[in-house]
Amino acid sequence: MVKRQVGHVTIVAVCIMVFWGIFYVASAKASKTMFMPADYELAQINYTAEQRLAPTKFNGNVRKIVYLTIDDGPSLYSSQLISILEQYNVPVTHFLIGKNIEKYPESVKQYEERGDYIGLHSMTHDYNTLYKKGEAINEMLQVQDLLKSSLSIESTLFRCPFGSMPGLSKQLRDEAVAAGLRTWDWTIDSNDWKLQNRPSQIVKTIEKQLNRQTEVILIHEKKRTINVLPQIIELLIDEGYEFATYDESKHFTMNFYNDDRL
Ligand SMILES: [Zn+2]
Repeated sequence: MVKRQVGHVTIVAVCIMVFWGIFYVASAKASKTMFMPADYELAQINYTAEQRLAPTKFNGNVRKIVYLTIDDGPSLYSSQLISILEQYNVPVTHFLIGKNIEKYPESVKQYEERGDYIGLHSMTHDYNTLYKKGEAINEMLQVQDLLKSSLSIESTLFRCPFGSMPGLSKQLRDEAVAAGLRTWDWTIDSNDWKLQNRPSQIVKTIEKQLNRQTEVILIHEKKRTINVLPQIIELLIDEGYEFATYDESKHFTMNFYNDDRL
């Protein structure tokens, strides 16, 4: 009996390793073949062993959780965004840019009131300023101050414009830790930033990559994305995902460096 259990454990462990190997090779291949300007958003996430081995179950089934994360807002399209989210009763996580918060503070308030998490996404959104000049963490703290002083919203989670890798150097990561901040990248990039004239491809791009028990999907607060948002949400519902918003008390590591301090 013991032998048999050990056998099962070994088989499960081997399966996980093989699956992981295939996934690793496939993602390495994909990132080589994809068009990648120096400053664009791209990479794959590495799950920690704990995340892979500790599924949350419900009625014996593994629950699938999706975090829909929306960058670069608020914007002219925020009210359209909110009405779609309300219609489906879907909570999301926003990563907001300083100047947009100043321009559309009411939208930020509405996000907060509906229970969405408000995250930080820099003041300038400029690759050179953030990473080459090393202002990333200073800018996240400026957005943090702005949210607190103008809207009484507290936030500790930031998302790097263009993703954390390679811009967020060890020094910047140390600064983030010292400042009490955390960062999230994503498991799925919808590519909505480059699918300007092909909004239906945004949905397909997400669909092709959906395979994890926990997904963090990157979309942007852009007209083209909001237009297909109902299709994105319906796809996720059909695939059996539950929607969640980021919760500081349940933080888990989700950055391309797998830096578990963040
Ligand atoms: Zn952005």
